[in-house]
Amino acid sequence: MQIAIVGAGISGLTAARQLQSQGHSVTVYEKSAGVSGRMSTRMTEFGGFDHGAQYFTVASERFKKEVADWLKVGWVVAWESKLVSLDAGMMEPASCTGKPFVPVPGMDSLGQQLAHGLDVRTGQQVVALEKTDNQWRLSVKSEEAPNAASAGPFDAVILAIPPELATLLLEGHSAFYNKVKNVKLDPCWTLMLAFPTPLNLAYDGAWISHSKLAWISRDTSKPDHRAGERWVCHATPAWSKEHLEDDAERIKDKLAKAFHEATTTPVQQLHATAHRWRYAQATNPLPESCLWDAKEGLGVCGDWFAAGLDGVGRVENAFLSGLALAKEM
Ligand SMILES: Cc1cc2nc3c(=O)[nH]c(=O)nc-3n(C[C@H](O)[C@H](O)[C@H](O)COP(=O)(O)OP(=O)(O)OC[C@H]3O[C@@H](n4cnc5c(N)ncnc54)[C@H](O)[C@@H]3O)c2cc1C
Repeated sequence: MQIAIVGAGISGLTAARQLQSQGHSVTVYEKSAGVSGRMSTRMTEFGGFDHGAQYFTVASERFKKEVADWLKVGWVVAWESKLVSLDAGMMEPASCTGKPFVPVPGMDSLGQQLAHGLDVRTGQQVVALEKTDNQWRLSVKSEEAPNAASAGPFDAVILAIPPELATLLLEGHSAFYNKVKNVKLDPCWTLMLAFPTPLNLAYDGAWISHSKLAWISRDTSKPDHRAGERWVCHATPAWSKEHLEDDAERIKDKLAKAFHEATTTPVQQLHATAHRWRYAQATNPLPESCLWDAKEGLGVCGDWFAAGLDGVGRVENAFLSGLALAKEM
């Protein structure tokens, strides 16, 4: 089969590798300049910031097996970190959710490794799907073709993108449109801070209570990350939602203040940037592993499927969902 996959995050790349290994011809379309989606690293003159996913954990036997392979080839390592909970200056050991792993040298390097050997077209945004004579054609926009060029034909299409974006492409095409339309991801405002000297804090990451911030982490404590003192801070979903359309400069000031309040560090940052994730994580993933409409030749996968796991959507859900869809096809 000729298969098009929209989205080169972990779910799309996992599905692509599995389908290609079964002998299918797979083309992956990715709107960003690089692969890996929300498992991302922002490069700056102060070094890289893992400003999306912070680390991943392993719950299922299937993911455990995959991560064991990634560890063997050195794509990922365990993050030996001290993680705590902070509440009004009080520090307690965190009731941790599992052993943390990180790709090296940055979060986006896992996607880059998974993309090797695949036909991935970056900088190509799929803006519409069209079905004629039982085959799919995609309308694809890029810097070179802002008026959308036609790509295809394909026998099947996989959407490995957040549900809000999948809904835009699914309208009029599939029985599961209404189901996808009702899934929402929470947003997240992220603050990236670089400091001139190491902060005298006795932890590498902290979950924070009673603050605008939910999480902070010393990015430079991750193995093989470049030298320096860089912190990534994530605002709570509720605060991010309330301030979603605010100006990034104002967000930066508010979250930097919250960082200093939570850590009580007197050291002033050299650099601060805010990034808005409009679609960050699903609090209520769909119970399935993926959705596949065999009649239409259309499927969706991503971290917004529970795929047998509890809790919010994360890297493991994305992997299991991409794999499940490829197997179901
Ligand atoms: C702030 C934040 C913190 C997080 N923290 C953690 C954590 O600590 N641990 C954890 O396990 N998970 C965490 N996550 C979640 C984790 O990043 C995701 O679960 C996982 O990366 C999702 O992978 P995915 O393939 O499903 O989707 P994505 O990574 O979103 O991939 C979708 C891709 O599709 C592309 N795309 C979208 N629309 C189109 C289009 N029309 N045409 C072409 N391309 C398109 C996007 O650019 C993107 O690259 C976090 C996420 C965020 C944002």
